[in-house]
Amino acid sequence: MKIVNPATGALVRDLPADSQKTVRAKYDRARAAQPRWGALPIRRRIETIRKFKDLIVEREEMLARTLTQEVGKPIRQSRNELKGLLARLDFFLTESARALRDETVLSGSAQKIEERISHEPLGVVANISAWNYPYFVGSNVFVPALVAGNAVLYKPSEYATLTGLHIADLLHAAGVPDDVFIAVIGDGATGSALLKQSVDGVFFTGSYPTGAKIAASVGRRMIKVQLELGGKDPIYVCDDVDVETAAAAIADGAFYNTGQSCCSVERVYVHEAVHDAFVDAFVAEVKRYKVGDPLDESTYIGAITRKAQLAVLKRQVADAKKKGAKLLLGGDTLKRKGNWFAPTVLSDVDHSMTVMREESFGPIIGIQAVADDDAAIDQMNDTDYGLTAGVYTGDEKRAKKILARVNAGSVYWNCCDRVSPRLPWSGVKHSGIGLTLSTYGIQAFTRPKAWHLKAAAA
Ligand code: NAD
Repeated sequence: MKIVNPATGALVRDLPADSQKTVRAKYDRARAAQPRWGALPIRRRIETIRKFKDLIVEREEMLARTLTQEVGKPIRQSRNELKGLLARLDFFLTESARALRDETVLSGSAQKIEERISHEPLGVVANISAWNYPYFVGSNVFVPALVAGNAVLYKPSEYATLTGLHIADLLHAAGVPDDVFIAVIGDGATGSALLKQSVDGVFFTGSYPTGAKIAASVGRRMIKVQLELGGKDPIYVCDDVDVETAAAAIADGAFYNTGQSCCSVERVYVHEAVHDAFVDAFVAEVKRYKVGDPLDESTYIGAITRKAQLAVLKRQVADAKKKGAKLLLGGDTLKRKGNWFAPTVLSDVDHSMTVMREESFGPIIGIQAVADDDAAIDQMNDTDYGLTAGVYTGDEKRAKKILARVNAGSVYWNCCDRVSPRLPWSGVKHSGIGLTLSTYGIQAFTRPKAWHLKAAAA
C-alpha cells in the first residue's frame, strides 16, 4: 500500500497490506484472546485506557503531524482532534463502569424472584473506520468495545493507515494485549475479507454506498451491525439573527476540516428577509480563510484527502451552474501539486441540483432563500439523509418548534458541526443505524443478558 500526502502528492510510506490469509490469522488470534480479556475485572480494562490517554498526551505533536501528513488536515485542526479525543476518553473513563454495571430490576417480590441484567461483551468485533476524523470515529468504537471486554479487529481507512498503526502501538504500550486489539491494514478489499470472518459484531463508519454493501453482506448472519454514515446536513437561518455572527459560525461549520466532516453544514436555507445580507457576510467570511500548506499554523483550508472527490465537487458545481445557480466564490480545483479545491459558495440553488441533494464532502456550499419556517422545514427534510440539522434564531421557542419537526439524529440551536461524548451520535435514513457515544453508546458493545434468579424453597 502506498501512503501519499494529499497536499503534495509525495509518497510518505510504502507498506504491505493484509491478505485474506493474514486477516484470517488475525481473526483467529483475536478469537483465542478475547475470553481472557473479557473475564478481567472492568477496572483493569479501564486502566489501560487511562494509560492510552497519557501516551496520547505525551506524543500529541508527533500524532498531529502524522495525521496532517496523511490526510491533509490543517495542523491546528489535527491538534484539536487530539484534544477532543482526550475529552472523549475522559467521558469513557468516568462513565463506563456505571454504564456496564449489573442492574437489579426486581428484588424482594412476593414470588421471591430476583431479576437482573448483565452487560456481556459481544466477543470479537470488526471496526471498519473512516479517515476524516480517525481519532474520533475510531475511539467512539474501539474504546467502549475494549472496555466492555471485546477483542477488536480495527481496520483504519486506507487514507489514515499510519494513524491507525499509531493507535494500535499506543494501545499495546498501554497494556491492551497484542491479540485483543489488532490493526488490519488495507483498502475495501481488506475490509471485505475482514467481514468474511465469524465476527460477533460489525461497527462501520463511512459512506452510505459502502454501508449499504456491508449491511447486505452480513445481513443473514444475525450479528450486531452499526453503520455511521454520511449526511447532507442543513442549517436554517431565521429572519431575526445577527447575520454577521450567524454567517461566521455557519461558514466555520461548513468549511472546518475542509468540509470533510460527516456533520459539516452542507446546505443553508436563509429566510428571504435576511438572505442577501447573509450571503454577503458569508462570502466575506469565506474569503478570509487561508488555503495552503496544512503544516502551516495559519492554514484553515487544507487538501482534499481523496483525489476522486475532486471530480465529484467539479460535477456538483457544473450541475448547479447549468441549472441556474450563481457561483459567488471558487468553483474549481487549484492548480498545484496534490488535491486542492477552492472554497466554493453557490447561491440561487434549489433541490433539482446535486449540490443540495448529494453529500459533497468538500469545501463547497449552496445557499437557498426560503419564504418562511414551514418552507425551511420542508426543504431540510427533503433528503435521503438525517445526521444533523440546525437553526439560527434569537427565539428559543421558535427554534425548538422547528427542530422538533426536523428528522435528524442530532439537532442544534445556534450551533452546528458539534459532537458531544455525553449525547448519542446517530443518524436516520441513509445516515445510518445504531449509535455511538453517551451511555447508550457504551452499552452498544454489549449484549444485555437477563437473569431470573429464584432461591430454592426452604
Ligand atoms: P468509505 O465508505 O469509502 O470507506 C470507509 C471504510 O470502509 C474504509 O476503511 C474502507 O476501506 C472500507 N471499505 C470500503 N469498501 C468496503 C467493503 N466492500 N467492505 C468492507 N469495508 C469496505 O468512506 P470514507 O471515504 O472513508 O469516509 C467518508 C464517509 O464517511 C462520508 O460519507 C462521511 O460522511 C462518513 N462519515 C460518517 C461519520 C458518522 O459518524 N456518521 C463519521 C465520519 C465519516
